[in-house]
Amino acid sequence: MPTIVQKGHPVLREKAREVVATEFGSDKLKNILADMKAALDAEPDGAALAAPQIGLPLRIFIISERVFSHHPDTEKEPKKQHLIYINPVLVRRAREKQLMEEGCLSVRGKYGKIARSVRATVRAYDEHGKPFTRGASGLLAQAFQHECDHLDGTLFIDNAADVWDVPHEHDGGA
Ligand code: ZN
Repeated sequence: MPTIVQKGHPVLREKAREVVATEFGSDKLKNILADMKAALDAEPDGAALAAPQIGLPLRIFIISERVFSHHPDTEKEPKKQHLIYINPVLVRRAREKQLMEEGCLSVRGKYGKIARSVRATVRAYDEHGKPFTRGASGLLAQAFQHECDHLDGTLFIDNAADVWDVPHEHDGGA
C-alpha cells in the first residue's frame, strides 16, 4: 500500500510532468492508477488524490465516486468507481468565486477556507489515452481546482483565507 506523503515532502512542491503517449495503456500506468485507488480507498473521508501525493510527480488525479455520487438511493451502497484524469488542464473557470472549506490528505490536521471558482471545466485523458472534457460545479469543481494545484506544487494552505486545526478523526480531504 503506497503511503500518502505529507507537507514538507519535496515531491508536493514539484511541477509534475505529463504522462507521455507511450505510457497510456502500459502496465506501469495501470499499476500507478491501482496504487492511487488503493491509497484513496484507505481514506474513509478521502475525496480525491493526485499522483504527487503518493510520491509520483506525474500529472494524474483521481476522484472518488464514493464521495461525488451520493444519491439517497445509492447511499447504502456507494459506488467505488474512480474517475481518472490524466494530463488535466483547467480550460474554464467561473469568474465567480466562493469561500469553501477544504482539507488535504497531505496536510493532516488542518482545514481551511479558500476562494474557489464555483464552476470549472477540465480537459483530460482517460487511462487509455482518450480525451474528454468535464464541467462541474460545487464540490467537484472545487476538487478539480485542488487537484490541479497539486500538479503544480501548490497546497491549499498556500492560498487559504483561514486555516485551523482539526482533530485527526475528522480529517478528510483530497
Ligand atoms: Zn490535497
